[in-house]
Amino acid sequence: ASATQALAHNLNASERTHFVLVPMMAQGHTIPMTDMAYLLAKHGAQVSFITTPLNASRITGFIDHVAAAGLAIQFVKLHFPAVEFGLPEGCENADMLKSRDLFKNFLDACAALREPLVAYLSQQRQSPSCIISDMMHWWTGDIAREFGIPRLTFNGFCGFAYLARYIIVRDNLLEHVEDENELISFPGFPTLLELTKAKCPGSLSVPGIDQIRKNMYEEEMRSTGVVINSFQELEALYIESFEQTTGKKVWTVGPMCLCNQDSNTLAARGNKASMDEAHCLQWLDSKNSGSVIFVSFGSMACTAPQQLVELGLGLESSNKPFIWVIKAGDKFPEVEEWLADGFEERVKDRGLIIRGWAPQVMILWHKSIGGFMTHCGWNSTLEGICAGVPLITWPHFAEQFVNERLVVDVLKTGVEVGVKAVTQWGHEQKEATVSMDAVETAVSKLMDEGEAAEEMRMRAKEFGAKARKALEEGGSSYNSINLLIHEMGNLGKGI
Ligand code: UDP
Repeated sequence: ASATQALAHNLNASERTHFVLVPMMAQGHTIPMTDMAYLLAKHGAQVSFITTPLNASRITGFIDHVAAAGLAIQFVKLHFPAVEFGLPEGCENADMLKSRDLFKNFLDACAALREPLVAYLSQQRQSPSCIISDMMHWWTGDIAREFGIPRLTFNGFCGFAYLARYIIVRDNLLEHVEDENELISFPGFPTLLELTKAKCPGSLSVPGIDQIRKNMYEEEMRSTGVVINSFQELEALYIESFEQTTGKKVWTVGPMCLCNQDSNTLAARGNKASMDEAHCLQWLDSKNSGSVIFVSFGSMACTAPQQLVELGLGLESSNKPFIWVIKAGDKFPEVEEWLADGFEERVKDRGLIIRGWAPQVMILWHKSIGGFMTHCGWNSTLEGICAGVPLITWPHFAEQFVNERLVVDVLKTGVEVGVKAVTQWGHEQKEATVSMDAVETAVSKLMDEGEAAEEMRMRAKEFGAKARKALEEGGSSYNSINLLIHEMGNLGKGI
């Protein structure tokens, strides 16, 4: 055990800095917050992790692991008022919403957790030291003020996208742009960044949430600082620029996915996997090192049935081994029919299809994986970076198009498949916009021989090594976590 961890075990509860973590109930937000809880506890802090019964049931593997490791993480299960806010019983996660029109109800139900959370915290012997809240839970600002403690925000973005989003809001960059396809440049961004309006974060049009969006932004500006799931060696220029531009203190504590590499925990990360992990590993073991392309679009993106078919055909004609995750929500009968009607048979020696929740990190970090076709959600992007493999970028919505620019233009560890249009969350497009040829071309650019591909693979490997170093003892993120705990502990003591 490291010196920090040895110290951590010798602290009693009243000496520990106590963080209250309030994650947004959506996989891309909750998963990194569980990692954050784990890291903070490993570094000697005490954590109260706020959750709800259904969300807790998805992470029982993690909860058991925490108990077995004797870490000071308390899982606080609050009743989620789904029915009270017009949602179906048990609808406690954004990935369960049947339509994005219900997102406002969902956010309102989250805000109603305020009272039970205050009641819980008031019952504790000591006030917590600090709240780390998902940006979407603007209502935790009041709680922090009530208890006289700092509130830090977390929204799952990298520094590059955080800065881009900040500039959009600060300058009202999108307001007078009529043409969705007009290129917008970002004033004050440290390197050239240009995106069409349609590809900008914030273009995610969810009905009725303007006021909530305003509240989020205002509370973020009032917060003491920001915790970012990234690391200095990846994007120092943008992190520093974000700090300078916003005047907010930033703690970079990532890549948090590297916090716990216990194989059981990895296999059940975020949810129970829908495929037997041993079967998956056996399949991967049977393939050559660096030969397999992994295809997965995260937990929220909807891909049209015709697009799935086109993607499958592209994978088939690429002639490379692949693992393709088709989400439960994408289970269209026509796609199932098409898969059964010859496709699965034709690719049976080199294609593995996972329907539902995949043990993504376990797969990505296997030595047979040589490339990752991703929707560019930040967690997936970072998991791919940690795996040291190059990426094929296929953004759908939100800040994913910004992440694509970071990967392709700045890190130079990926190629675009060439997505032109946004696929709004909950509004899958009607037709395929990326052709099978585009898929095949991107796969061969990434996986084939040749100087450019070789260079990209080398760069990806180097970032993978730097990522691991950042969280090792003495690394930049390791030190940043210690600093965060120290500073929040001292703030509470009025030092
Ligand atoms: N994930 C997973 N299995 C799946 C789909 C997603 O383990 O089948 C995990 C993935 O590893 C990542 C998270 O879910 O940690 C998705 O977050 P991301 O930011 O990439 O995308 P989002 O789902 O928020 O769009």
